[in-house]
Amino acid sequence: MRIDILTVLPEMLESPLNCSILKRAQDKGLAEIVVHNLRDYTTNKHRKVDDYPFGGEAGMVMQVEPVDRAITHLKSQREYDEVIYTSPDGEVLSQPMANSLSLLNNIIILCGHYKGIDYRIREHLITREISIGDYVLTGGEMPAVVITDAVVRLIPGVIGDEQSALSDSFQDNLLAPPIYTRPSDYNGWKVPEILLSGHQAHIDQWRYDQAVERTRRLRPGLLDD
Ligand code: SAM
Repeated sequence: MRIDILTVLPEMLESPLNCSILKRAQDKGLAEIVVHNLRDYTTNKHRKVDDYPFGGEAGMVMQVEPVDRAITHLKSQREYDEVIYTSPDGEVLSQPMANSLSLLNNIIILCGHYKGIDYRIREHLITREISIGDYVLTGGEMPAVVITDAVVRLIPGVIGDEQSALSDSFQDNLLAPPIYTRPSDYNGWKVPEILLSGHQAHIDQWRYDQAVERTRRLRPGLLDD
């Protein structure tokens, strides 16, 4: 899978995209994540990509031209399944959405900035708008990292033990059951006996019951779905 991220702050993406699972996915050739500086696509001699809003509102607006040039350039090289804009008023990112995005071949993620982007970009260039929650961040860079991480970790082979991604919270609309590691007794804080019993069927049933109980208690809405 290839993910092209368009941003005015490429340096903000460097570290999160080159650590841990995202780094491993790229090293293994399972994901290619390419960051593009939108300033490389402007014809403005000061590399400006924003301007004042028509109608006199406060704040600056990301211009159409550099975004259009960047997307047109990328589309001339390969076909894209989705051109995503990170937006607080988009569809809220969910595990089912991450699952379906992980099946795509090529996507572009546009990070907004300033007061937002010229609406014509959304009308003519964007195919999908994704929010990471009902709050407003300064830019789309962190949402782009969140979307990329949620999607790339689902690509088969990225996580060593694939079962581990499948048993995470929200797969099957259940929260994950509690997990423990050594020592089994830490100053009297004990691991549930069942996990030390060696009876795999009983352990699996316990985990399922715990997942249902935690979901009912913490996120009952998931059970309605
Ligand atoms: N004026 C915009 C509004 O009220 O919806 C908010 C602009 S915000 C300061 C700048 C950029 O950050 C947005 O264009 C978007 O790309 C990104 N952003 C902010 N919050 C976000 C969220 N919750 N999910 C996804 N992207 C977000």
